[in-house]
Amino acid sequence: MNAKKIARERIKKLLELADKIFKENRERAKRYIELARKISMRHNVRIPKEYRFFICKECKTLLKPGFNARFRIHNSRIVVTCLECGNVYRMPFLFEKRFYKNRKSEIIDIFFRIDKYEVFSKNSKKTKFGVYFELYVKKGRKISEKPIAKVIYFSGTKYIKPWAEVDYKKFFKIRDRKRKFGFKAEILFFKKLSKALNVERLMVGYLDDRETAMSLAIGVPEIITRLGYVLFKAGFYSIKDFYVPEGGAEGKPKLIAEKIPDKEKELIKDWISTLEDFLKKDFDKKYKKRAEKVLKELKEKTVEK
Ligand SMILES: [Zn+2]
Repeated sequence: MNAKKIARERIKKLLELADKIFKENRERAKRYIELARKISMRHNVRIPKEYRFFICKECKTLLKPGFNARFRIHNSRIVVTCLECGNVYRMPFLFEKRFYKNRKSEIIDIFFRIDKYEVFSKNSKKTKFGVYFELYVKKGRKISEKPIAKVIYFSGTKYIKPWAEVDYKKFFKIRDRKRKFGFKAEILFFKKLSKALNVERLMVGYLDDRETAMSLAIGVPEIITRLGYVLFKAGFYSIKDFYVPEGGAEGKPKLIAEKIPDKEKELIKDWISTLEDFLKKDFDKKYKKRAEKVLKELKEKTVEK
């Protein structure tokens, strides 16, 4: 084997390792990447494409969409923002095409029921960045005039699991003040939608959900915000506020909800300590009540397991 081939293989190994331990040990992942880059430079071997665009040019971290990076289409380019160091760079469009080449579906066609309601997809189309579709609701003969949700489905790549972005302000036409905490139909909506799409990650805009937006703004933990709790009950144990104030008009604030089956215990423990801390603080009675209710549920879960 020649030196270049060995270098190429070592680089690949290191990057795979970095990817594997990324979420547990960011510093070590970074060291692996640095090492891979050194080998790449010394032997004049390029970093493989599937990684090259997922390493921040500035701080050299691995970039995971929805976790520490944002990918957006702008002027036929993908604009990548590293949320760890704030670096912004553009990804060539050519790559983007190849990147999404292996997407499974061109349009989405789904259907599910929530009690008396039938939810179905419509107006699905392939876009540059994913598959867009709208969800309408039918009850008896009546069909909702406007979509209850607009969704973009991303089929992911070899390295990124599929996910969906959901904008659902017209959900069942129920106004903020009437939406109860832990509204059952809403929980079912997210449960069934994620199952129909087979995604373990959802990004849900909350700008139109005033209650949730307000709660997050004053520092209430995600899990006891109205939308956060709904997502938790739908099986998404990791819930993070994704609001990065900055100049550009890119991306609305949203909650990122993720199912991490092998980390559920840890996530529940984290929420318990978060809520216990929260209860020591001086907050509105409403939130204290919620925190107590959810804390009880979480503790019951730890007993179950
Ligand atoms: Zn960076």
